[in-house]
Amino acid sequence: MDETDRLKDWDRHHLWHAFSQMASYDGAIIQSAEGCWLETVDGTRLLDGASSMWCIVHGHRHPVIDQAIRDQLDQVAQVTLLGMSHPVAIRLARRLAELAPGKMPHVFFSSDGSSSVEVAVKMAFQYWQQRRTGRRPEKTTYLAVEGAYHGDTLGSVSVGGIARFVSMFQPLLFSSIRGPTPDTYRLPPGIPEDQLCSWYLDRYRQLIAQHAHQLAAVVVEPLVMGAAGMVMAPPGFLRGLREITRQYEVLLIADEIAVGIGRTGTLWACQQEEVEPDLLCTGKGLSGGYLPIAATLATSEIWEAFLGDYSESRSFFHGHTFGGNPLACAAALANLELLFQEQTLQKLPLTAEHLAMRLAPLASHPHVGQIRQRGLIAAVELVADRATKTGFPWSEEIGKKVCQGTIRRGTWLRPLGNVIPILPPLSIGTEEIDHLADGLMSSIEEVLGKQRTAV
Ligand SMILES: *Cc1c(COP(=O)(O)O)cnc(C)c1O
Repeated sequence: MDETDRLKDWDRHHLWHAFSQMASYDGAIIQSAEGCWLETVDGTRLLDGASSMWCIVHGHRHPVIDQAIRDQLDQVAQVTLLGMSHPVAIRLARRLAELAPGKMPHVFFSSDGSSSVEVAVKMAFQYWQQRRTGRRPEKTTYLAVEGAYHGDTLGSVSVGGIARFVSMFQPLLFSSIRGPTPDTYRLPPGIPEDQLCSWYLDRYRQLIAQHAHQLAAVVVEPLVMGAAGMVMAPPGFLRGLREITRQYEVLLIADEIAVGIGRTGTLWACQQEEVEPDLLCTGKGLSGGYLPIAATLATSEIWEAFLGDYSESRSFFHGHTFGGNPLACAAALANLELLFQEQTLQKLPLTAEHLAMRLAPLASHPHVGQIRQRGLIAAVELVADRATKTGFPWSEEIGKKVCQGTIRRGTWLRPLGNVIPILPPLSIGTEEIDHLADGLMSSIEEVLGKQRTAV
């Protein structure tokens, strides 16, 4: 048995992989990476079509981010934020406050997206318990979106809505209310397309009006619901939700963990509808995808409810050992500066357009239900029947088979059921997009048959 085989063996036996059936596990082992490319221990090169789970922004091993981490390593690798501080966490908090959509000058660090959602949920709760101008202690529940994903810790699952993840742990979760999934793809029967947004907003207005007295917050993934299958909300939905939550005195928590840091074409997705949330969660791409760090941004209105004499017991009762870790903060600061230095957002529309152009031919494939895209979030939805948009049974693992074929053709993609998400690093080049699109196209034809011209 050579060293690679030994590693593969140990990988299957000792390493319990996230969201993976270990009985049949067979993932690549990555030795190194550069730019948009991963290299396995066998020496195979794979284009990172999923940005290592939607987080790599400027490519792997970017010299500026690498150097920022090395420089920080020469200073200090870990400082707790429980009663101490360090320059990079301070600077990063300041930078995030400057860049926030609206006035959100207060930044709480954690180490992963799920925790940043827990923080937002708990902050919203404690805020209503101890707000100075009119406490509302009965505001203890949340409105979330059916099919939403906010992470895997119990609090974030409680405000999530992916049935398969939620139902297993139901007895452990706190109850919250669910509104319908705003989806431009699946029009509710009888609703004309141009009334889609107002139709959904009416549903949300009813729910919020009915439950306002007990609602602490509405939790939403702005513009695109990631794990739900890159579901795109109708334009105006987020904006409308903001107006309704203001009207009924309910906080709005924007989960920008997947959509933030430039993914949809603006730094924050909220900016596209000029929405200023009360709490904002960011993670994934925050450090350029290099090191685990997430943050919850809050308005002064929320922050002020937590201020007072020590004896009033108003501090936020929450903290993570590695929240605001110096190495991760250094990577994040460098990543944010790179967004401006490399004009990442100015270049993004052309990249996104090239991706759209290369995916477009797939639209006529008999088993492609829809191609969705917003900035550099794209998805190809595979369906059994185009006319009725009926999906394949999940047990057939069509999405997985297509991704396996794409991996064999040199691009790493990971399916969400029968949806193939395409979220390359924002720094991807047009030739790399061509490689990705060619691989995906051939793989779809291999699994689902040849392209036929649409009738
Ligand atoms: C990935 C993700 C999370 C969870 O972040 P982790 O770092 O995996 O805990 C939460 N919300 C959204 C929208 C995400 O895409």
